[in-house]
Amino acid sequence: MIVVVQFFLFVLGLYLLAKFANRYLFKESREKSILQNSGISREQWDEAFQQLPLLRGLSNEEIQSLEELCILFMHNKTFEGAQGFQVTPHVMLIISLQACLPILRLGLSCYDNFSTIIIYPEGFVTNRQKMDDNGIVDHDRTHTLGESWLRGPVILSWHDSKQSGVEDGSNLVIHEFAHKLDMQNGVANGFPPLHKNMNSSDWVREFSKAYDYFINHCKGDQLHGFDCYGASDPAEFFSVFSEMFFEKPGKVRKHFPEVHNLLELYYRQTPISRLKG
Ligand SMILES: [Zn+2]
Repeated sequence: MIVVVQFFLFVLGLYLLAKFANRYLFKESREKSILQNSGISREQWDEAFQQLPLLRGLSNEEIQSLEELCILFMHNKTFEGAQGFQVTPHVMLIISLQACLPILRLGLSCYDNFSTIIIYPEGFVTNRQKMDDNGIVDHDRTHTLGESWLRGPVILSWHDSKQSGVEDGSNLVIHEFAHKLDMQNGVANGFPPLHKNMNSSDWVREFSKAYDYFINHCKGDQLHGFDCYGASDPAEFFSVFSEMFFEKPGKVRKHFPEVHNLLELYYRQTPISRLKG
């Protein structure tokens, strides 16, 4: 009996060792191979970067990191076209560059909670509630432009995704992927998992204060350039402020300095140092 148990433990040890090696020891060589065989030309990268002014000011090291993140992101995720939409390498690059900008200092594992990105040619019709019991968060201004599903796909309108990234404060792609960051610890509620050097009490206090101010003063379409859609609920507030943080960080710092500081700590980036707005 003892021999059987010892044999079982030996086999179990080998299995765990192989799993560990595959996950951690071989990860680097596997990713290196993916990066070397991306098939994306310099011209394709340059064309995509030119279409996205919000990437201006990134250092060469940051550009390289962002490109590597994008390649791995495109390798790991499935891109599906809806309503006959053709997903081209350019489409994947435009979406991936914007999706990966927020996780430039956070890492790709933040997006482990989904595998598929569905792209419609333009806005699409949905009859869902804004946030239902299944944790579906809609992004519905005049019609639905994008959605993030808890443990499900990100859904985007290409028409609006390609018009994002122009530093006007509105960015559909960052908005929907900010919901995914928010969903790392459950239903989107404006409270993503924080880093060890962050204080959850500070986050709750400052975001609650800013949110209360926002819902009391944001009565039309915008307040100080912020989309009043952020007054819908704390999850939308976090996503709208994430859009502004990467598109118009100067406005976030001017009108909501404490929230700006917390977003800098969370995203581990300082877009204000590279953008004018
Ligand atoms: Zn939303």
